[in-house]
Amino acid sequence: MQYISTRGQAPAVDFKSAILTGLAPDGGLYLPTEWPQFSAAELSALRGAAYPDVAFEVFRRFAGDCISPERLRALLGRAYDDFGHPAVAPLVQTGPKQWVLELFHGPTLAFKDFAMQAIAPLMAHFLAEEGRQMTIVGATSGDTGGAALKAFAGRAGIKVLFLFPEGGVSPFQQDQMLGLCGDNTHVAAVSGSFDDCQRIVKGLFADDTFRDAVSLSAVNSINWGRIVAQAVYYFTTCLALGLPDSGVNFVIPSGNFGDIYAGHVARQMGAPIAGLTIATNENDILARAHTTGSYVPKALKPTITPAMDIQVASNFERLLFELLDHDAAALRRLMADLEQHGGFALPAPALSRFQRAFRASAVSQPACRDRIARSHAATQYVADPHTAVALEAAARLSPERAPQVVLSTAHPVKFNETVTEVLGFCPGPGQAPFSPRPVRSVPDVIANDIATVKARVHALP
Ligand SMILES: *Cc1c(COP(=O)(O)O)cnc(C)c1O
Repeated sequence: MQYISTRGQAPAVDFKSAILTGLAPDGGLYLPTEWPQFSAAELSALRGAAYPDVAFEVFRRFAGDCISPERLRALLGRAYDDFGHPAVAPLVQTGPKQWVLELFHGPTLAFKDFAMQAIAPLMAHFLAEEGRQMTIVGATSGDTGGAALKAFAGRAGIKVLFLFPEGGVSPFQQDQMLGLCGDNTHVAAVSGSFDDCQRIVKGLFADDTFRDAVSLSAVNSINWGRIVAQAVYYFTTCLALGLPDSGVNFVIPSGNFGDIYAGHVARQMGAPIAGLTIATNENDILARAHTTGSYVPKALKPTITPAMDIQVASNFERLLFELLDHDAAALRRLMADLEQHGGFALPAPALSRFQRAFRASAVSQPACRDRIARSHAATQYVADPHTAVALEAAARLSPERAPQVVLSTAHPVKFNETVTEVLGFCPGPGQAPFSPRPVRSVPDVIANDIATVKARVHALP
């Protein structure tokens, strides 16, 4: 299996390089040249399989000869050990044909653990094999940082630095990240927005000298391995619901378009998925682009769902490549328009494909709060604000869009301020809790500037 860049100006690579490199050297994102398939018989055979076994079947189709099946099975067999629920990704029924897929039973209580816990051992394996070292630098709106620090802590030959927007993550998330800093895991707050952090990271990758000097890699949602790891729970959900002929309708709280894109990948591979609905908060670029075809970032608005406070959804580039019929030159033109003119218009055929393949809904903060209250009143279900955005989007879909599965991306305790404001209480984590006990309570704040971050990376112990 080969991986090519969406920008069309980097050599094709294998699974190992795609995962170890993250972003392609031409600034594009890696995609496989074809979608590996599950036949109906192969899917049926997986009914009742344990989560790691389904993960193995998904990963194996992407990994090619990069890792032996025995080794892959062994690594994935342990990847979900720190999850606090035997199903790993349990479904909770909240209505006659509605379920919530709880993706927060991992060690840092958000769905980012699914990707990090699976790709950290894979990356460590590939690095050890090559006798290489690496520096992972990433931007986080709160959950990726914690999940990555936890998954990479203590792994030999890997240094990790995460940037987050100062004041842009919840107090719980900040404490969690500070508490997970260790010998090889570090964070810094940037005086800027998440998009600023993301721009700095992109800038680091664009600098070949720097990139080679520190052997830079990315585990942000642009890393292909994360998409593969996230595709797994779409399969386990379809299996748990009996692979219904009607297909399953998923509603996904979306920011960087990684989680929902993984659903698209699962659908391309043969999972019975009838619908994928993009649920955004007031930073609604994806919903606007879906309605009008105009992809134009606006000023970022901080909301009660900070993990979705994103204006430039980096994984959207992967879908765009497909919507443009794999025309890398056309994609480069749109990306140049985005950089230089502040946006682009989707060509008409691309827009109609986008509209056929997805639905989209933008949810305001009052509607989100209201949904937290209404869900609790109706079903006793306590949703974190991100999950509530998707619950609200789901409620707007016509009832024949069933069975319906809403992805719950974080435990409510991670955003307990908002939940407590609305309900008057917030449940703690029911599992062996990861208690954030920060060594320091105040992060290092650094300038919103690429030179400062470079110096910081060079100075990592
Ligand atoms: C990261 C995150 C999202 C957004 O996921 P994307 O893959 O960026 O679309 C939604 N909710 C929570 C809680 C998150 O941590």
